[in-house]
This record gives sequence, C-alpha cells and structure tokens, in this order.
Amino acid sequence: MDINQLVRKNVQQLTPYQSARRIGGNGDVWLNANEYPIAPHFELTQQTLNRYPEPQPEQVLDRYAQYAGVMSEQLIVSRGADEAIELLMRAFCEPQQDSILYCPPTYGMYQVSAETLGIKTKTVPTNAQWQLDLEGIKNNLDTVKLIYVCSPNNPTGNLINPEDIKTLLTMAKDQALVVIDEAYIEFSPQASVVTWLANYPHLVILRTLSKAFALAGLRCGFTIANKPVIDALQKVIAPYPLAVPVADIAAQALSKEGINNMKLHVLNMNNQKQKFAAALAQLPIVEQVYPSASNYLCVKFQDGKDVFNRLWNQGIILRDQSKSTGINNMTRITIGTQAECEAVISALSAIN
Ligand code: PMP
Repeated sequence: MDINQLVRKNVQQLTPYQSARRIGGNGDVWLNANEYPIAPHFELTQQTLNRYPEPQPEQVLDRYAQYAGVMSEQLIVSRGADEAIELLMRAFCEPQQDSILYCPPTYGMYQVSAETLGIKTKTVPTNAQWQLDLEGIKNNLDTVKLIYVCSPNNPTGNLINPEDIKTLLTMAKDQALVVIDEAYIEFSPQASVVTWLANYPHLVILRTLSKAFALAGLRCGFTIANKPVIDALQKVIAPYPLAVPVADIAAQALSKEGINNMKLHVLNMNNQKQKFAAALAQLPIVEQVYPSASNYLCVKFQDGKDVFNRLWNQGIILRDQSKSTGINNMTRITIGTQAECEAVISALSAIN
C-alpha cells in the first residue's frame, strides 16, 4: 500500500520549511538560526505534571502584558510565534478561497503554513531598499485576508518604514488583518507598532521568547491584538498549548530580573554586531554588509554559496540565502559570541 496516495494532495506537493535544524550540519559554531549564543540558567519550580496545564497561563499572560504595555485580554500565548502564524490562517482564511499576502525576501513559514492548510499565497516582492511595494500590494489585495510583514525583516535585517505600515493598514481596512512579525523587535524596541493597537482593530503583532530572551528551545510566542482577534484565535488553538514546564520558565523569563537579563542580552548582541559588521566590511571577499536592526547580518559575497560551503566544511554553520528572492549571493550570519564571530572572520580571511 502506498501511503503517500492517502496524503492530502497539497501536502504531497509541499516542500517543508527548511529550518536550520532540518538542514543539519556538523560543527561547533552555529550561526544559522538567530539564536542567542549563551544559555541562561533556569530551574523548574513546579514539579507536578499529573494535571493538565492552564490553557493560557495567567502569570505568563499578566507578565507579558505588562512587558508589552497591553492588557492581558489582548494576548494569546502559543507554541512559538510559528504556531501563531498558522492559528491566524486557521481562524481567518477559508481554504481554497482566501489568500495570504507576504513580501519576499522574508520569513519562510508564512508560505509553508498557507500551503499546508490549502490557503492561496500572493507574493509582492519588496523594492530595492527591501521596503514594501505599496502599489503592488494594493493591486493584489483581492481575496487577501492576512498580510504578513516582518519587521525587523528576516533575513535582510532592516526595519519596515512605519509610515508604509500605516498606509498598508489604511489600505487593508475592512478587508484583511495586517500581521507585523516582531520576532526580533527587542533588538530595536523603538520600532514596535504595539502602541498603534488602539487605532487599528485589524493590526496583529507576533512576538517570541526565542530570540532576545534566549529561549528558542522553550517554544513560547505571543500574539498581540485587539480582543475580537484574540477571541477568534482562542477558538482554534489546541486545548493546552503550553506545557507546565514551559509556562514555569516563561514566567521566570518575564519577571523583572528576566527582563533585565534580556536587555543585557540585547546590549551585548548590539555591541557585538557593530564590531562584527566592521570587521566583515574590512574583508576583500565581502561585497557588502547590510545595516541590521536585528541579531543577524545579511552579508553579500561574490559567491555566497561557495562561502557558505567552505565554512560549512569547517564546522561553521551559516544560513545560505543564495536561493531566496532578491538576495542573490547573500548569507545570513547570526551574531554569536565574540569567539564565534572571530572564527567567522578568520575563516573568511583565509579564502582568496
Ligand atoms: N518569525 C520570524 C521572523 C522568525 O525568524 C521566527 C524564528 N525563526 C519566528 C517567527 C518563529 O519564532 P518561534 O521560535 O517563536 O516559533
């Protein structure tokens, strides 16, 4: 029996998301998943697991609400921001009928989630400055229910112009939700659009503990929106999305001390990023280092794929972007520890 014949047609055709872990590699310098390079220490305070967890753990919500400057009814917590990307589609898009729109080069899960669910995708590539092509979006809004905009954008590292986001919100009014993916916003906190929620009922913001909070292994993310959006997501989320140990550690990460630690991570990474970018820019092999509002750099080489392969063979694992739309020959490099950044610089210096 060919089980593949039983698989849904769109899943048969689906190319799964090429996550850093799925791509694999062998090495000791891991700069391909935009993780924080050092593990903070946590201890579990709750040792009993015989009962189901709270569906939406109150302490986690209250602390995140306070951190983000919103009310806890404007939040839903999920298994990473990745789950939130999909929950929005499940709640708002009719399969085979509605579309999502996103602007490549950008994060790959918008496409994969939509394809998994049988939701159509529309792409409007960003312009030469990696900013929104507002005219192009306007001409493609038919059937669109969700517009995903990543700021700071992964993999390019730039912020999207706030004025353009406002124009987009006006354009999408009464038709689509505008989802601003702020997974990396702690590295440029001034750029958050969270204070706009009062003015835009169709604004949605995605956040995560995976990046600046240094908890990618925890799998904990947040959606911030007005209550009617949150209520719709509550209908489709799994009954107990957060395991007891996850909620336990998330609450600790969101304590006063946890947030201070996160801010130190950001200071460290932003300092390290400046030094790393300056050192990269000195290398003859580097064509361009793009400004980054995030914890990674998008770097252009003459032959990005070759650079990626050479470092891969030395156990330095970067993220190859040579196949992504609009960023030929680019490589995304997560900011690591000083030693990890130095290992990259010395490996690149050795290439002629
Ligand atoms: N959005 C963006 C832009 C990301 O880069 C990532 C992580 N790769 C996510 C969302 C998903 O984050 P999480 O780990 O919270 O699922």
